[in-house]
Amino acid sequence: MAATLPRNAQVAEQFDLLADLLELEGEEQFRVIAYRRAAELIRSAAGPIAQLALDGEAKKLPGVGKTIESKIVQIVDSGEIEALTKRKARIPSGVAEFLRLPALGPKTARRIWQELGITTVADLKRAAEAERLRTLPGLGAKTEERILRALAEKPQEKRTLLAAALPAVQAVVDVLREHPASTQVSEAGSVRRRTETVRDLDIIATASDPAALTDYLTKLRWVSEVEAHGKTKATVVSHDGLRFDLRVVPPDSYGNLLQHFTGSKRHNVALREDAVRRGLSVSEYGVKEVESGEVFTAVSEDELYERLGYQWIPPELREGAGELEAARRGELPELVDVGDLRGDLHMHSTWSSDGKNTLEEMVLAARARGYDYVAVTDHAHYLREGRLQAQWHEIAELARQLEPFRILRGVEVSIRADGSVDMSDDDLAGCDWVMASLHSAFDKSPTERVLTAMENPHVDCLGHLTARKLNRRGGADIALDRVFEKAVDTGTLIEINSQPDRLDLRDVHARAAAEAGVQLVISTDSHELGALAYMELGVAQARRAWLTKKQVANTRTWRQLLKLKKP
Ligand SMILES: [Zn+2]
Ligand SMILES: [Zn+2]
Repeated sequence: MAATLPRNAQVAEQFDLLADLLELEGEEQFRVIAYRRAAELIRSAAGPIAQLALDGEAKKLPGVGKTIESKIVQIVDSGEIEALTKRKARIPSGVAEFLRLPALGPKTARRIWQELGITTVADLKRAAEAERLRTLPGLGAKTEERILRALAEKPQEKRTLLAAALPAVQAVVDVLREHPASTQVSEAGSVRRRTETVRDLDIIATASDPAALTDYLTKLRWVSEVEAHGKTKATVVSHDGLRFDLRVVPPDSYGNLLQHFTGSKRHNVALREDAVRRGLSVSEYGVKEVESGEVFTAVSEDELYERLGYQWIPPELREGAGELEAARRGELPELVDVGDLRGDLHMHSTWSSDGKNTLEEMVLAARARGYDYVAVTDHAHYLREGRLQAQWHEIAELARQLEPFRILRGVEVSIRADGSVDMSDDDLAGCDWVMASLHSAFDKSPTERVLTAMENPHVDCLGHLTARKLNRRGGADIALDRVFEKAVDTGTLIEINSQPDRLDLRDVHARAAAEAGVQLVISTDSHELGALAYMELGVAQARRAWLTKKQVANTRTWRQLLKLKKP
């Protein structure tokens, strides 16, 4: 019975922890990366990975292989990866928690543990307060300050990334739609609003036979646990640890309930308050006219918003951030759409050692998505000693075959500690498109470095500005208003990076940037073919930021875009 096997999410967690501990022990990076990648793959695998490993089939998955498979079998047999058990015995559990602090890298964490003998987060806090960390060469008051600040922030629970939640909920909605008893099925909740992470996945449906539909959900192949099961409601957990909540509602108030369960809470509270001022009382079941006692139910959201005096509001905007006022005036922005994008301006190939596909494969896949152009932006430090020119040669050859499709000679440079970038001006001058990003030392005057980089006449666009990683580390402490102002002054564009754990700029920041007059770019930062589809996530983020097509530079042709960017 599958239910006795560990869930994919539990298996993945062990690989993530193993990677953490290897990092603490100073193991080779490639091993650490291999385990992290395995964790990622296992988390997103469609079937139960434990069963696949027992059948000897897991190693056929890309990135899994024999070693990982045997470790998964160890989890099934004894509950834990042997290497993990061994390391847990050597490394105090508190030390692994140090890595969750954005202020601490593995090397520093190891030194604090081994040289100062600090093994718990509580002791770490005390040592920072007592200014004892600065007794280690290389550590100073600033590190102590950062650690204390990080500890003061609430520990964040791990939430499911939109990239995992979205295809999962869409697949379940499709499956439920095909069931003969279902009439209407829709995603709801935070996933429908496309928040960057979600907790549960909500689905709202109407059905001719509600019990048949909830029953059907609980019996689907991928369900590992049924948490609740009634005639009109069911909650199930999948093998990868996602929790689905299905509610079957009466068709005549489908609009009310869908709106209610889409949220957000702030949006709904503001909507109800506004209604009260107009003599209406709104609940999930209907809109009551207080004076007459008459109740209005809506079969669709359109009807509901219209009855309340608003334009229909796209779910991405329902955050209680001015959307009701705008919808009342009929002035909601016309949001950018995936189909508006003409090119992807950030991607890596095997020219970067972390790229998984060749330049040709990446370019062809991008072209197949219907774009007019792509920028190949491998990391500058892999393009030294003639490799840049060799790449240009490859681009020129391929470009000839693919005309009029355009391949841009791009590069992603790193912003160094002094704000300079890691490629010579001569080389930069030969590039069509230059992204500049922070990749390390996020705490070392990040604002000043970014401002300096923007003054570089070759830098066209900032990549993943705050360098945050969802569920892993917060963003660098950057004075965004100053960066946005400088971006407008210098004509530097700023990216919304579509990587599932980046989504950087985040929604509210992207909105502020656009309001300041910054032109944004939505790009995928793909390191493999599949990642090109993450554009949908970046666009979702842009929609949450109220962005219109005009505010996103790569909805333009390359010729038009040239007029926007630095000469
Ligand atoms: Zn980068
Ligand atoms: Zn990149």
